[in-house]
Amino acid sequence: MSLNLLMLGPPGAGKGTQAERFARSRGIPKVSTGDILREAVQTRTPIGLRAMEIMNRGELVSDDVMIGIVRERLDRKDAAGGFVLDGFPRTVAQASALDSIMIGRDPLIVIDIVVPEEELVRRLSTRLICEVCGANATVKNDRTCERCGGRLMQRTDDSSAVVLERLKVYHQQSEPLVEYYRVRPTFRSIDGAQPPDRVAEDLAAAIEAANHQAVRHGAPR
Ligand code: AMP
Repeated sequence: MSLNLLMLGPPGAGKGTQAERFARSRGIPKVSTGDILREAVQTRTPIGLRAMEIMNRGELVSDDVMIGIVRERLDRKDAAGGFVLDGFPRTVAQASALDSIMIGRDPLIVIDIVVPEEELVRRLSTRLICEVCGANATVKNDRTCERCGGRLMQRTDDSSAVVLERLKVYHQQSEPLVEYYRVRPTFRSIDGAQPPDRVAEDLAAAIEAANHQAVRHGAPR
């Protein structure tokens, strides 16, 4: 059975970090729509050029574009044995399109990472990413990337005005997804305000429990 995992949670909850760790530990791809868009911006593809201003304002790229990107990505061979989705869906329309994409596949396991608002603002305003490989920095006072030695910088959309807009957009457009998925037996929420290793432990346990439910009850897709 493939492990098809979806990470929910506001910006700064640690979705990317945890998705990366988990995907690597299971040898399945992490599909991060934010990473895909940032790469498209860097390589100046038509989608990237259109997305750049929207991202810099902290708003959402259109559902049609995002659904197309994810449909194509999940159809690739390497996602057949499972995947970790990070940053998608972000609207109910995207979630409903994902349900159609999932027809014929193993059920989605949905994990919501819960973190208080003040902690999110603190994390987003201090976080650094590598300007070369895009990885989140783990050591805040060192200005080079642990993974590739690249220079660390602030994400353009982590400036304080944009952070507030992104949190507003999250509450208006993405938080309703928690209710959308909560009714499923494969939904779990975890406390993301703990140290990353503890969150990773809780995540693994929650996935185990949700997977057990999926196998026993044949969850809706
Ligand atoms: P993230 O790295 O997930 O915080 O995403 C960075 C930015 O990319 C977001 O603020 C949006 O502008 C855009 N983005 C990423 N994923 C999506 C999505 N599923 N739907 C719409 N916009 C997205």
